[in-house]
Amino acid sequence: MEPPYRTWVEISRAQIAANFRAVRALVGPAVEVVPVVKADAYGHGAVEVARIVAREGARWLAVSTVEEGVALREAGIAARILVMADTLESSRAAFLEYALTPVVVSLDDLRAFEAWLAGRGAELRYHLKVDTGMGRLGVIGSAEEIARAVRAAQRLRLEGLMSHLASAADYASPQTDEQIRRFTELLTALRRVGIVPAYAHLASTIPVAYARREAWFGMVRTGHALYGYVSPARGPAPKPVLEVKPALTWKARILSVKQVPAGWPIGYGAMFRAPRPMRIGILGVGYADGLPHRLSNRGQVIAHGRFAPILGAVSMDLTTVDLSDCPEAAPGDAVTLIGEEGAARQDAQQLARLAGTISYDVLCGIRARVKRVYV
Ligand SMILES: *Cc1c(COP(=O)(O)O)cnc(C)c1O
Repeated sequence: MEPPYRTWVEISRAQIAANFRAVRALVGPAVEVVPVVKADAYGHGAVEVARIVAREGARWLAVSTVEEGVALREAGIAARILVMADTLESSRAAFLEYALTPVVVSLDDLRAFEAWLAGRGAELRYHLKVDTGMGRLGVIGSAEEIARAVRAAQRLRLEGLMSHLASAADYASPQTDEQIRRFTELLTALRRVGIVPAYAHLASTIPVAYARREAWFGMVRTGHALYGYVSPARGPAPKPVLEVKPALTWKARILSVKQVPAGWPIGYGAMFRAPRPMRIGILGVGYADGLPHRLSNRGQVIAHGRFAPILGAVSMDLTTVDLSDCPEAAPGDAVTLIGEEGAARQDAQQLARLAGTISYDVLCGIRARVKRVYV
């Protein structure tokens, strides 16, 4: 039975579990897999995904904000939760209250957080992020400076050292090797002075999927792979070795079908004009649902197993498609925006390419008003 919605996504629990197991099997038992469920699990629903991977034995989760961590705790998720990008002073209390694990991104933050904890008589484990050449969050500093600050903190206890790769998919660039080298050197220098974090982590999906083992250390943080995606690499890349499949299918219903005469304008700005009499379908989905406006006049959907081009502007709540080759399509029928019908398939990567963006953006862009259905 299809759900009675104008637009919805179906998320396969079994596929998410299978994707998690594929990552686990690839990295082996010595490497901890941290499923990344930030941004509502890239549109897949953070609480549901957290429950699925918890059943599969995941001990850690990663989110970006304290709010995301709190939502998981309030849903009863017991795993360790690493909060990767929330360093605001106003967020500190929640780390304690909800047993969340902060990523500290500067030595000044480390000292300020330490003082804050001292004022409350509390302690916390943390992961320290270093900038190995991403140029975003993280400490840029010598091993000596870092060691001094780590030692000075009594209430914040270093549990992990982490960094993030900027160009993991670009095998023509030396940047990834440089970042791995800097990270390894820092770990070695810290170890030499007796600072040995329980976890070191640098890798997201790409270095896992392309088997760049020297980037795995004892922990990997995978998001995209969990949802069934591995971005294509550039340059002299090896073949990806990770087998995952998209877990999400996006559907919308045809609200109305009609015939338009040759020359008839379609949608805002008359961005399309029917070159011949056409049979058009108006779908109950638009950019307010997350269908990129950039797909105006260039995207397509799958209707009854065949591709139906998008005509004219994608509007806020409606999108028009050409159903001329799909005579059986009728109001109430569902079409597929992401997913497959028979031999016709379109994934978030293909949709993203047409829209001039990346698959992450398309998945995260599917709005809350699109119902999530778990199958
Ligand atoms: C989002 C994110 C990840 C996960 O990246 P994927 O490419 O989705 O696997 C890992 N680490 C950090 C710091 C992130 O922000």
